[in-house]
Amino acid sequence: MNTVKFFEDYGLVGIERKTNSQYMALCPNCKDKKREHFYFNSEGVYNCQKCEIKGNARTYLKEFAHITDAREIRKILHQYGLSDGTKKQRKIVATYDYDDLSGKLVHQTVRYDPKKFLQRRPDGKGGWVWNIKNIKRYCIGCQMS
Ligand SMILES: [Zn+2]
Repeated sequence: MNTVKFFEDYGLVGIERKTNSQYMALCPNCKDKKREHFYFNSEGVYNCQKCEIKGNARTYLKEFAHITDAREIRKILHQYGLSDGTKKQRKIVATYDYDDLSGKLVHQTVRYDPKKFLQRRPDGKGGWVWNIKNIKRYCIGCQMS
């Protein structure tokens, strides 16, 4: 990752290292002379506490380097070893149904790849509610109280 070089090459001035992963610079938007408000980190995520802009390496290229071509942006980010700001899409790999005593689906555990589990329940309208709040737990063989 070469975040500082990236920002330098694309016009950010007055870059100064503050901590291991925090940098300050002259805000490209409000040009705050005191250089006290614009921060960015080694991931390329920035924000200005004065004019309240915020974004990442991708939005920086669009707004301050005026590069709008998605392929061009991806190429540049790749070159500097920066994340392109898009989250990896998780894929559903399995679902586990929890039915009530009559066999009606009460809730479902969804397994994703990369590994993650989420709980959801039918919303009654063909969709899902992504929590299992207020669900009566059923347990076959347990004493219903
Ligand atoms: Zn600013």
